[in-house]
Amino acid sequence: MEGILSQKSPEGAWERAKTVLIATLKTPEEKSRADRYFSMITKVEKDGEGRFILRVSNNAAAEFLDENYASKARTCLGLVGEGDDVKVEFALDDSPPPPPPPPPPPPPRPAAKADETPRTVQQQSAGRQGFISTLPLNEEYTFDEFVSGPSNSWAYSAAQGVVQTPGEKGYNPLFIHGGTGLGKTHLMQAIGNELKKKNRNFAVCYITAETLLNEYVNCLKNGTVNSFRDKYRNVDALLIDDVQFLQRKNQFQEEFFNTFNFLQGKNRQIVMTSDVAPKDLKVLEERLISRFIGGLVQEIDSPSYETRLAILKKKTEGKLPIIPLSTLNFIAENIKSHVRAMEGALAKVKMVMLANPGEEIPPVLLHRLLKDFIESDENIRRLSIPDIQAACAKRYGITVEDVLSNVRTQTLVNARQLAMYIAKKFTSQSSNDIGKAFNKTHATVLSGVKNIQKRMDVEPDLRESLEAILSEFGVKPGDELN
Ligand code: ADP
Ligand code: MG
Repeated sequence: MEGILSQKSPEGAWERAKTVLIATLKTPEEKSRADRYFSMITKVEKDGEGRFILRVSNNAAAEFLDENYASKARTCLGLVGEGDDVKVEFALDDSPPPPPPPPPPPPPRPAAKADETPRTVQQQSAGRQGFISTLPLNEEYTFDEFVSGPSNSWAYSAAQGVVQTPGEKGYNPLFIHGGTGLGKTHLMQAIGNELKKKNRNFAVCYITAETLLNEYVNCLKNGTVNSFRDKYRNVDALLIDDVQFLQRKNQFQEEFFNTFNFLQGKNRQIVMTSDVAPKDLKVLEERLISRFIGGLVQEIDSPSYETRLAILKKKTEGKLPIIPLSTLNFIAENIKSHVRAMEGALAKVKMVMLANPGEEIPPVLLHRLLKDFIESDENIRRLSIPDIQAACAKRYGITVEDVLSNVRTQTLVNARQLAMYIAKKFTSQSSNDIGKAFNKTHATVLSGVKNIQKRMDVEPDLRESLEAILSEFGVKPGDELN
């Protein structure tokens, strides 16, 4: 419930500040990284001096959060009405885990056989109350709160199918992919919440791939891989969020593959989300990818105008302040690709409406108020490296092969380095990834970028080429992401 009262609680304030913070980050990568780290926060406290203490159960995460987000969190808490001099600290949550739910002891579970057929959730009562290694599920992420429309209806039905018959072959694993902020985590947690609602002893483990990986690395260090294995083979449903972060970690892939096979062999349900399709998880081993697509793969797309408006109505229904339909329309019309950005915009509108109850915000003011969200929405239409290479080749009258070659004539070097420069400044790809796309090392990319930077101010021709190429993408110097 997001009424006026809950707005005053530290949790409520942090929820709103978090939404604003994420919405103001520029790239999808930055947003999803912040989202992942924030999902590790287990407790929000406010001390007598008005200091916000945000606790996580892992020291490294606390340090990372403090270094990277403390100042932004301060600004955003200020924005949501906590005052300009609010203080923020990320700290370790060293309180003991909550006690397991009380008995009664469940009926003994027969030893699992490889040919076990799926059972209903009520029948599955593994009684693994001791299982604690799961990130908390957000209770508000339910099927009821999720608006289904053409962009997500297949994923929505598949998620409901999983709840009906978890472990059923046609849905196992369920792989949901789509851009940031489109509801993947919401849908995945709705599965977890619903399974728990049907049977509280059903061992649901929700975890982000990155947390899982960190835990594995720690177990390797401490020589406790066996306990890792036992833990994750002992779940009824394993929900792994953001599996794109599993890339490149070979030893872990082996362990994950084995756990995956074990669970699937016992008809335990696996659900995964990713911001790219399985085939684009390039660095993942073939055998894992083929497992991922062996069940059901569903994509979530950007919502249509009607779905965006329905989502906004759902998020504001029965809550204060009452937001006029014209304002919801404005948000739905102007913020298109991203449900999370719509939520950020809504949070800002709510603040203004609470300060001026009953007054509609005129469109001109709305535009100004939501400028950041509208612009960051535009930025999401990022350039791709192949498009940049093609545009540079065209400008210099050469081929893409020339751009990718090692030939060092002046024209080719100009086109190649300019393309590297644009890729570096106007996409969120790392120098390593850009290097790969050009068949070069990341050091070559960096020196190319530096060279262009140096020449840009003294060579009008080069500047003109840059502007011409950028204008093909509707971008101009000054719009750099990096
Ligand atoms: P993702 O995991 O895809 O990045 P999230 O699941 O975290 O996105 O969704 C971002 C926010 O948008 C959440 O607060 C979620 O409740 C909301 N959201 C996204 N899609 C929908 C939808 N179809 N209906 C209701 N809320 C949605
Ligand atoms: Mg997510």
